[in-house]
Amino acid sequence: MRLISLALMCTLLIGCGSETTTSTEATSAQPEKTYNWKLVTTWPKNFPGLGLAPENFAKDVERMSNGRLKIKVYGAGQMVPALEVFDAVSQGTAEVGHGAAYYWKGKIPAGVFFTAVPFGLNAQEMNAWIHYGGGLELWRELYEPFNLIPFAGGNTGVQMAGWFNREIKSMDDIRGLKMRIPGLGGEVISRAGGIAVNIPGGELYTSMQTGVIDATEWVGPYNDRAFGLHQVAKYYYYPGWHEPGPTLELIINKQAYETLPADLQAIVEVAARAANQDMLDEYTARNNAALVELVENHGVEVKQLPDDVIAELQRLSVEVVEEVAAVNPLSRRIADSLKEFAKQSKSYHAISEEAFYNARQK
Ligand code: CA
Repeated sequence: MRLISLALMCTLLIGCGSETTTSTEATSAQPEKTYNWKLVTTWPKNFPGLGLAPENFAKDVERMSNGRLKIKVYGAGQMVPALEVFDAVSQGTAEVGHGAAYYWKGKIPAGVFFTAVPFGLNAQEMNAWIHYGGGLELWRELYEPFNLIPFAGGNTGVQMAGWFNREIKSMDDIRGLKMRIPGLGGEVISRAGGIAVNIPGGELYTSMQTGVIDATEWVGPYNDRAFGLHQVAKYYYYPGWHEPGPTLELIINKQAYETLPADLQAIVEVAARAANQDMLDEYTARNNAALVELVENHGVEVKQLPDDVIAELQRLSVEVVEEVAAVNPLSRRIADSLKEFAKQSKSYHAISEEAFYNARQK
């Protein structure tokens, strides 16, 4: 501090003349290495909410590193197709990827636990489990064999159950229903007699319009409106039982990350944490107005899933989670960690968040 004060005084009061070694001279003598990274995503370029997180991450990293780490963002299909992001970053074709862990469930079944568990943790609780409850360490262990370092890369908050071209009055209406729903939620729908498929977001509108699917979940009012899903389905159901607080992921190629000096690694880490929180803030702010507009200007019918349907979906969810937990010992450890965290969180949130929500309604 004293040195800084002295230097400042010198500059302000006297003017030290050209013989002083300034930081600019030191820098120009030994230019710092710059890094250029590519970031591939599972979202269309600049897609509201989901697609802005990787853009914000890249901008923040460049700004904080004073241009020493530049990241170019590619939307789905620009460099690799949406559902090949994981492999591209794992192999080093791109240094960073942004998507959701449950898209890779065919390769890593336990990855679904890091996106969303039906009837599980909400956004606040997912962030708490990942950053303070041992979740991140387990996630890193899971991705280690794939040469990837995962970071939480955004959260949408509680989603909507989705868009349906028919009313859901009982479990009979789920039977034979062809629905786009990834992750554990999709497993639950399959078990209920529906046909769950995973289709990238950018193809949902056409898939609904052409009748390839009868229903789709996506995110919530703000994002769903951007895809125009209200134009291809009549009913908009809640609550998002399948994705109560889905976490997006930023995955970084291990060698690329390890090549960075410590200060740039810290910048990457902090920028990821900022992008993660910023997404939740944006959704929380924008979903409200989007829902009003969908209802008032587009005549969308908002409906609640019947209680008995919810109860049956919850029963099936427990089975599905247990099945994934049984895949291998690491999957079991992740499921147990989540379960224990959920138990404690539910207990305290019953007398904090939940009690407050109830009190506020009165
Ligand atoms: Ca979703």
